[in-house]
Amino acid sequence: MRPSCATIDLDALRANYLLAQRLAGARTLAVVKADAYGHGAIACAKALEPLADGFAVAFLEEALPLRTSGIRSPIVLLEGAFDPGELEAAAELDLWPVVHHEAQLRMLELAPRRPRRVWIKINSGMNRTGFAPREAPNVWRRLQALPGLEPPVWMTHFACADDPCSTMTLEQIRRFHGGVAGLPGETSLANSAALLAWPQARGDWARPGILLYGGNPLLTGAEPGEAASLRPVMRLTSKVFATRRLAPGEALGYGATFIAERPVRVGLVAIGYADGYPRHAPTGTPVAVAGRRTRLIGRVSMDMLTVDLTPLPEDVGLGAAVELWGETVSVDEVARAAGTISYELLCHVKRVQRLHRG
Ligand code: PLP
Repeated sequence: MRPSCATIDLDALRANYLLAQRLAGARTLAVVKADAYGHGAIACAKALEPLADGFAVAFLEEALPLRTSGIRSPIVLLEGAFDPGELEAAAELDLWPVVHHEAQLRMLELAPRRPRRVWIKINSGMNRTGFAPREAPNVWRRLQALPGLEPPVWMTHFACADDPCSTMTLEQIRRFHGGVAGLPGETSLANSAALLAWPQARGDWARPGILLYGGNPLLTGAEPGEAASLRPVMRLTSKVFATRRLAPGEALGYGATFIAERPVRVGLVAIGYADGYPRHAPTGTPVAVAGRRTRLIGRVSMDMLTVDLTPLPEDVGLGAAVELWGETVSVDEVARAAGTISYELLCHVKRVQRLHRG
């Protein structure tokens, strides 16, 4: 079998969840949408269920396998129900859909059978989905007319919580509370970045995602603070399956983007962009070989990539263990080098074995 593997450390996942819960000081939904950001939603939810207050996924298809595999905790559908059949399934499976626009509210009003609880999204400034804060009292009046519904959870989502210097988060918090203050129900504001950087965003429910998987959502330059104690959950590893030497002036890989300026020892690694390693990672992106940091060189191919073995001892070569991200090289570092965010890298891992440990 090809030696490329994503090893998922479930103990680290649990430790990160407990950190999130402590930061929240409130009930905490583990966001396990997009197959738990590429970590395997069923395995992650099962590992977290004894600790977790609930889970959040994007839509019904992501919630079904969790219920089928025996997850009993509350599950919030962050995008809500897309048609009346989904609303009925949500009621049947005790899923809590987010209601974020008029058509969804109408659907709820007309539904023959409704979920026990809904979350109502308030648009406090991100301007994607949600009711305007001034509409909240009217939404509440309409919900009150529906028998069998518990008071909702009023929620909002932040645009810039990853930037501790932005003034937008405080403004969003102000607008949100301005809309829902005094209305029955509970509140939910914080994603991972808000848990780390904005204690003012506390509510009755927190909704961390990336933090659970050990990603630091805060922009570079932000104080590490509690983010420093996050543990990486995914280690993406492979092996050197061939080596070669480049003489000065020789080129490497597609586009001949890397030209050796001195003798270079190259390791070919059995993982590429079809496995989810970012094709845009440039020469210089950190990578660890035999536990030591070195750099990616040349373009990432579909099934392989090339690393610089020159700074490493001569006996580090064929068969050497390679960590693309995990403990020695963080996924955030690779994401920054590739001009993206750790979320995207983690969600895109595929075609490699996935092993859950702990
Ligand atoms: N809440 C909502 C509504 C989301 O859409 C997401 C993710 O996109 C989260 C919470 C979790 O965000 P993060 O992974 O940044 O903690």
